Amino acid sequence: MADNIADLILGGDPSTHLLQEAFAFDITLTKVRCAACNTVSCLGALAVDGGHLEALVKCADCGSNLMRATRTSRGCVLEMHSARHLYF
Ligand SMILES: [Zn+2]
Repeated sequence: MADNIADLILGGDPSTHLLQEAFAFDITLTKVRCAACNTVSCLGALAVDGGHLEALVKCADCGSNLMRATRTSRGCVLEMHSARHLYF
């Protein structure tokens, strides 16, 4: 089993290039569609709440929790409960 995306790409599977493209973009330029109200917003324009251990992004229209990044003792976790799509 590969330890990271670079190991997968070196393995020659062309579908891994799509994953690399999906995770090698500038997140602030991404647009996100809210699953609750269908509003599309630029992620970089949305307010972020939290602190050193958590970042919470809410929909500017309905207030739903779009994304939550949490730092744990084992790494970072990204939850996207109310984000239907990311466009990049
Ligand atoms: Zn919304």
